[in-house]
Amino acid sequence: MRKKGSLLVISGFSGVGKGTAAKRLVEKYGYSLSVSATTRKPRTGEVDGREYFFKTEAEFKNLIDYNGFIEYARYVDNYYGTPRKFVEEELAAGHNVILEIEVQGAFNIKKQYDDALLIFITAPSAQAIRERLIGRGTESEEVIHKRLERAKEESMDMTKYDYIVINDDLEECVDRIHAIVQAKECLLANN
Ligand code: 5GP
Repeated sequence: MRKKGSLLVISGFSGVGKGTAAKRLVEKYGYSLSVSATTRKPRTGEVDGREYFFKTEAEFKNLIDYNGFIEYARYVDNYYGTPRKFVEEELAAGHNVILEIEVQGAFNIKKQYDDALLIFITAPSAQAIRERLIGRGTESEEVIHKRLERAKEESMDMTKYDYIVINDDLEECVDRIHAIVQAKECLLANN
């Protein structure tokens, strides 16, 4: 029988570079990346079906009603959810799947998938997080403020993750995450 794939959940403060790290894990190590649905408006350069499936609130709620998500959460005035079909099919095909989601979603996944690996990406300092978020220039001042407030709450949950990885250098961060996944696979193989 084919070995089922495993779930790698990546969370982190807004602007920490977790999206870039997730994309690099796909390119460099062949992970499958789940594309979430959201009611947030697309940022410049974001493409429907690539960064997110952009939905109206009515469409999103309809998907909830039809059990279309394995988890969903509200984050700073918008809904975000992980489409069920892709994840279930990829896992069944034996692929390791990355979910790049916030903390409520991560804990929800852990309840359903006991062996999911939860990794929290952080920046070298609080100041670095603020600078990255402002420097990115994708959010209004009000949204940046809300996201930084949310980061304070998230930092309390960070310690419940399996691993914390600092993103100072992208390649180092990505290699470290992959090494953790490999170590976990060896651990399971020996149990
Ligand atoms: P952003 O608006 O910056 O793209 O994402 C905001 C937050 O929503 C990030 O912390 C991101 O990880 C999280 N997020 C993205 N997709 C999902 C999802 O499907 N479920 C949950 N729970 N969070 C998500």
